[in-house]
Amino acid sequence: MHVLQLCSRSAGEVRRPLLEVPAEELLAWLQARGQAPLRARQMRRWLLAGRATTFEQMSDLPRHLREDLATTFRPLGSAIARHLIARDGTHKLLLRLPDDQVIECVLLHEADRRTVCISTQVGCGMGCVFCASGLGGLVRNLTAGEILEQLIHARNLLPVEERLTHIVVMGMGEPLANLDALLEALAVATSPEGLGIGARHVTISTVGLPAKIRQLADLRKQYHLAVSLHAPNDELRSRIVPTNAKTGLAAILEAADYFYAVTGRQVTYEYVLLRNINDQPAHAVELAKLLRGRQVHVNLIPFNDVEGLPYRRLTQQALTDFVAILRGAGLSVKVRKRKGADIDAACGQLRRTALAEPALPSGVG
Ligand code: SAH
Repeated sequence: MHVLQLCSRSAGEVRRPLLEVPAEELLAWLQARGQAPLRARQMRRWLLAGRATTFEQMSDLPRHLREDLATTFRPLGSAIARHLIARDGTHKLLLRLPDDQVIECVLLHEADRRTVCISTQVGCGMGCVFCASGLGGLVRNLTAGEILEQLIHARNLLPVEERLTHIVVMGMGEPLANLDALLEALAVATSPEGLGIGARHVTISTVGLPAKIRQLADLRKQYHLAVSLHAPNDELRSRIVPTNAKTGLAAILEAADYFYAVTGRQVTYEYVLLRNINDQPAHAVELAKLLRGRQVHVNLIPFNDVEGLPYRRLTQQALTDFVAILRGAGLSVKVRKRKGADIDAACGQLRRTALAEPALPSGVG
């Protein structure tokens, strides 16, 4: 593993990040300086396509405008606090936000795919017992700009001839609990004027909030939905995923069926396998029964160890048996490959490690 960069601290910073400034306000600001409205578009293009991280680099803007901009705004509000590269080429960024909160995003290289895993909240309020992100509860939602900036930072790591191809919303937080900001960010990410990532290449992973799943379905976007199931019955699921006690599996499955009916996009069910808890043959049989008759994919995720938690990864034999039972029942099953194991790449782990240290690097300022 390499640690590449320690970066500037933002405390006391008052200049607002450009992506946080509402379009009308930016246009009024430009107009007050006798600048054409098209300048706003130029600046966005520099951030989204031109890889600029300073106003100085926006070379087709008049010099005095660039100077003026730099006194009032910042191109990006988040800064790279840490950049780790795993042996398998996975990059993990720890980003510091303007209020000194930190979030994670991950860039994965797989054949011709360049996939970014993004966070939607600082912390998480869902409380899944095995997940590092939820251990400290929810701190706050991310803004659309903060979600978009993760994609920009990850994209800026790629060689100029490469572009991001896929987004998985599987980082810290519950995406459907911050749906408006996420949708705003994804609209830019998937527009040709923005990052040009295909909407069909975006996967939103949720703990399963039925009303929000229906709301997302009704938008008739091409986004792919993944639902974190983790158990085949309510009794076990409520122990692993506490919010289940309020929602229940039936309502989640109905909402996911509705999503498929409306969008025509098959739903993926994620299932984190925890040794001796939900990894037994009887669980696989029950899961197959639960999903029978549905056009779905199952994504099995062997648990990634989280320090301080009592859960363990299942054995290889248990995994082989679990897969065989599901496939035997006619389900489409994939086992998620482990990426970035040596850099705490599972969601929320790096942030936790960093917060546990005496001081997060505050860098070169
Ligand atoms: N809140 C969303 C996104 C969370 S992260 C959701 O619940 O889906 C995406 C996936 O990673 C979820 O399925 C989550 O349960 C899983 N995950 C979280 N911590 C994990 C760990 N330590 N090992 C393996 N998978 C984990």
